[in-house]
Amino acid sequence: MTMNVLVTGGAGYIGSHTCKALAQAGFFPVAYDNLSTGHEWAVRWGPLVRGELAEGELLRRTMSEYGIGSVLHFAGWSYVGESVHAPRKYYRNNLIGTVGLLDAMLDAGVETIVFSSTCATYGMPEAELLDETHPQCPVNPYGETKLAIERALRWYGEAYPMRSVALRYFNAAGADENTEIGEAHDPETHLIPLVIEAAMEAGRDVSIFGTDYPTPDGTAIRDYVHVSDLADAHVQALRYLRAGRPSAWFNLGTGLGHSVQEIISAVERFSGRRVPARHAGRRAGDPQHLVADARKAASELGWKPQNSSLENIVRTAWRWRARYESAEHERRALAFSRP
Ligand code: UDP
Repeated sequence: MTMNVLVTGGAGYIGSHTCKALAQAGFFPVAYDNLSTGHEWAVRWGPLVRGELAEGELLRRTMSEYGIGSVLHFAGWSYVGESVHAPRKYYRNNLIGTVGLLDAMLDAGVETIVFSSTCATYGMPEAELLDETHPQCPVNPYGETKLAIERALRWYGEAYPMRSVALRYFNAAGADENTEIGEAHDPETHLIPLVIEAAMEAGRDVSIFGTDYPTPDGTAIRDYVHVSDLADAHVQALRYLRAGRPSAWFNLGTGLGHSVQEIISAVERFSGRRVPARHAGRRAGDPQHLVADARKAASELGWKPQNSSLENIVRTAWRWRARYESAEHERRALAFSRP
């Protein structure tokens, strides 16, 4: 039987890829997005309701009008560096906004939610691989606000008829295999698209944030996981909740780390072009390495990343960027030529 699913942030990067995966799996995604960073063109597999998390009444109405059976909650700010300098933005939207969403769910009788959490809830790593039992001591407001919601979900689950799955993403990367959707942030701050842009455009370079980390090449290590694999994990989490299983939290990563320098080299190998790189200081709030132990998601959700080799991430991200740049170019040319 199909189910209507409210996807907050459904016009965004991971949200839109998940809407596609949901539709392919027989669910009906209703995207709820304020389009502050998301794109109308990315909503292709169901309707778009334009609204804020703070609009409780609109949320309640949307849930009842569409007969929503479950919520996938992506909407939120997600820049580590920015969160250090603008914490109020993160507390207001990620924390207060999400509490409003949970309350709207309780009012509308929607009992299950899959929440976009993050490896940033762990803070400074105390092990090579982080499993779900690693202490959660965030070192930036982004991680703090996500952890606060994980905790709220546990307490709400104790007190109310609400079950949840929190998915702790490591670094989302890559783009849809058919190039229908992909990453399009403005301004872009994520490493892989920035490295690709520096390879594509003459005169562009990329800054390496920190070259003095205690890692083999001195640059920070992250676990890059393909966005389509993350999307599949949400479908599996939804099925898990539908099967009546208890609230849970899972890491989503590959178990393999790549340094900033390795990402630059991978893009150079793929493109045959040189990426001009400049050494910059460490970025505030950045741990030296974050790599997942994702065995729990494998054993309890049946999730294994299928598309997350670095080659595939770079290949799909490159193809998407090329398509997006040329569409943007056409759009600007059209706007310019209009009388
Ligand atoms: N990074 C970098 N230069 C950039 C952007 C990012 O060196 O222009 C580094 C960043 O410090 C981190 C890694 O690349 O170690 C991944 O950063 P990103 O912003 O892509 O994701 P995050 O880890 O913050 O979620």
